[in-house]
Amino acid sequence: TKWVYSFGGGLNEGGAGMRNLLGGKGANLAEMASIGLPVPPGFTITTEVCSAFYENGNNYPQGLAEEVAGALHRVEEVMGLTFGDANAPLLVSVRSGARVSMPGMMDTVLNLGLNDQTVEGLARSSGDERFAWDSYRRFIQMYGSVVMGVPHHRFEDLLEQAKRGLGVHDDTAVTAADWREIVEGYKEIVQRETGKPFPTDPQAQLWGAIGAVFGSWMNPRANTYRKLHEIPASWGTAVNVQSMVFGNMGDDCATGVCFTRDPSTGENVFYGEYLVNAQGEDVVAGIRTPQPMAAEKATPDQSPMEKILPKAYGELMRVRELLEKQYRDMQDIEFTVQRNTLFMLQTRTGKRTAAAALKIAIDMAREGLITQEEAIQRVPPTSLDQLLHPTLDPKAEKTQIARGLPASPGAAAGAIVFTAEEVEDRAAQGEDVILVRIETSPEDVHGMHAARGVLTTRGGMTSHAAVVARGMGRVCVAGAGSIHVDYKAQTLTANGVTLKAGDWITLDGGTGAVYVGKVATIPPTLSGDFGTLMGWADDVRRLRVRANAETPDDAETARKFGAEGIGLSRTEHMFFGPDRIGHVRQMIMADDPEARKKAIGALLPFQRDDFASIFRIMRGLPVTIRLLDPPLHEFLPHGEAELAEVAGALGQSIESLRARRSALSEANPMLGHRGCRLGISYPEIYAMQVRAIMEAAIAVSREAGESIVPEIMIPLVGMKTELEVTRKAAEAVVAAVFAEQGTTLDYMIGTMIELPRAAITAGQIAEVADFFSFGTNDLTQTTLGLSRDDAGSFLPYYVDHGLLPKDPFVSIDREGVGALVQMGAEGGRKTKPKLKLGVCGEHGGDPDSIAFFESVGLDYVSCSPFRVPVARLAAAQAVL
Ligand code: ADP
Ligand code: MG
Ligand code: MG
Repeated sequence: TKWVYSFGGGLNEGGAGMRNLLGGKGANLAEMASIGLPVPPGFTITTEVCSAFYENGNNYPQGLAEEVAGALHRVEEVMGLTFGDANAPLLVSVRSGARVSMPGMMDTVLNLGLNDQTVEGLARSSGDERFAWDSYRRFIQMYGSVVMGVPHHRFEDLLEQAKRGLGVHDDTAVTAADWREIVEGYKEIVQRETGKPFPTDPQAQLWGAIGAVFGSWMNPRANTYRKLHEIPASWGTAVNVQSMVFGNMGDDCATGVCFTRDPSTGENVFYGEYLVNAQGEDVVAGIRTPQPMAAEKATPDQSPMEKILPKAYGELMRVRELLEKQYRDMQDIEFTVQRNTLFMLQTRTGKRTAAAALKIAIDMAREGLITQEEAIQRVPPTSLDQLLHPTLDPKAEKTQIARGLPASPGAAAGAIVFTAEEVEDRAAQGEDVILVRIETSPEDVHGMHAARGVLTTRGGMTSHAAVVARGMGRVCVAGAGSIHVDYKAQTLTANGVTLKAGDWITLDGGTGAVYVGKVATIPPTLSGDFGTLMGWADDVRRLRVRANAETPDDAETARKFGAEGIGLSRTEHMFFGPDRIGHVRQMIMADDPEARKKAIGALLPFQRDDFASIFRIMRGLPVTIRLLDPPLHEFLPHGEAELAEVAGALGQSIESLRARRSALSEANPMLGHRGCRLGISYPEIYAMQVRAIMEAAIAVSREAGESIVPEIMIPLVGMKTELEVTRKAAEAVVAAVFAEQGTTLDYMIGTMIELPRAAITAGQIAEVADFFSFGTNDLTQTTLGLSRDDAGSFLPYYVDHGLLPKDPFVSIDREGVGALVQMGAEGGRKTKPKLKLGVCGEHGGDPDSIAFFESVGLDYVSCSPFRVPVARLAAAQAVL
């Protein structure tokens, strides 16, 4: 096996297509070098070394040392420098790089190869003593913390103290002599903290850093990130060793991080930040304030790179175009300018907000950079959620207390919380919270995930908080420098206002504004690029998309989002209205069929109105109405106090109500007296519902002048006989209504397939069904023998430990539940080739599940109204 691949200086053994082996960073460094961009030469130690390392009890594979030595020697030759040489030393960076970028998870060591001798050589060869010692102290600081585990703040504290003593604020004002002293102090810190001297041998430094990168693959922060993003531990990380270029050699030097387009809005402008006379992560560290790239994006008090370093900027503009052509996507790049010469240090496909993803996809398709199909595939369906979220109501009363950077858009309100742990705790209680930090680090990632929004007081658009929040779709305002956070007192102060932990604030991630209290929001707009993308998706998808809705509000939202009908209207939700529940309870308490009929009769007009308003909203589109499904005890009061109240209202004794409740109580309600079993025991209930549906359909057809085709759905059928009986009863009601109204109407009677037996005997059931709708929620419960309400105690473990690839209630279990869906579909279609097939569980809005339903050839999916756009896009991606 080849363990090491060279890049730069005329030898590129890798390329963009090799990211699995070389990691994203290594693959792209080789790619950039091979298209002629200025990349400092180096080499990549493959991800296979990482895997081999962990498989072999933390030992490197044979031959690695020789390959590294050979590749390093090549770099020495290209650069004309020697690693460890006391006169003209080669310095390198050691950088991690996994297949997918894991922001902040792994640490880079810069300026490696320095010691007390080589630093003097560097000072001489560069003619800049200050620069050499600045590099040395950076190296000890990074190596000391990353490789040797010295807490970072030990170094920072010493530096702060020294600067205070010198009366300077910026690092750039610290002189060579001062750095010499600080370096001595740093070495003492290392000795004191680790009991070991700082390593002076460059070879030992190199292997220490390589080991630290591989070690960081398994650290808890990396594990957390992988878990959140479903990245397998087996992928491993690569290590990149690259000759250093220096952005800290003076005012004609700089380092920067930027995007080829605005990652927040998608706007086609060069976007990013840079710092003069700086190195590495200075830009994102928040110590100095980074400056903008483009002059047109700068305020008068800023120093845009375009003006300050015009030559390098011009070169960068050329690189930007080349990179977008090469990668055919927006890139996130890192560069350094050494004495007016540009060097490229990284490129990767840029993370972006949902809004930016959408705009960039549409723009690039229009620019001819990508095809329409590619544009459809460029937008992750679930990210549309973000676009469908509310923004602040411009007319709402609001008091702004600060403004930071608009790091990740959307509006979020919540209680102020200062630690990630507390965010998690409170979010688990269902509270809306905002994580407020001076700055965030990888330890905060889990808290950021649980928060509604994130506010930091330090750092730029590419700070950790900003990058991670954008990736997660969390609202983020970053670098709100006028806010003073006091962790100890648990307060934040801005503009003369002091707020305590628990007080509410509202963030506007689109403008960077921070407001006191909870500010009103308005719904999103669905036109423009969003409408265009949806149109493109609709052109290619085969699956129809319906919504699950029972209230007029939901039906309206669904229609607005492009639902092509209603796939599930749960009638029981209509039973809970304050004007209905009394009748429902009368019905349940009724001692004889006559009393029951009376109570049910009182419900009829309500149901008829409900259905009529849905039919009206969905005019021209199919509507599936499911007859009563849940067990009756769900409608009875639970608490004792409520019991007394209800008994009074019903004119019943508490005892009889209690007796009825206990008679109806079940050990396993999920498998109990529900669904069509209710309709069979109490035919009056279904008769009333069928009557209400048909009367409403006839009435709305008359008023609309076009006919409504209601789809009546019988739940929880396990055998053909159940559907036969309920269907016959329903047809009798339909016939009666037709006779009374002197008219007829097309209608369908179908069933849900949500029990394994129904899927297995689908061929028989289809003989009496006009359609099937797979109820994948119940089908998942019944197939796995696993109740959704009880799964919380062990299912997360299964998913965390890989016993199940995903939560089967979120994404369909293809091998089990999916196989039954397929069996049901095939069985049904064998009997009736044109049988209409749909899905109405949660899975109807899950992109992975939708891809599966496409492959099985279902006719439609039905999901909650807000998921309709997600499903439309996912359905399009499923056929591409
Ligand atoms: P991350 O994965 O956290 O972005 P990188 O490996 O990209 O870490 O390193 C962080 C920063 O260090 C880079 O953006 C760049 O500024 C600096 N850096 C890395 N390698 C070099 C190098 N060979 N010369 C100069 N700067 C470098
Ligand atoms: Mg980093
Ligand atoms: Mg980087």
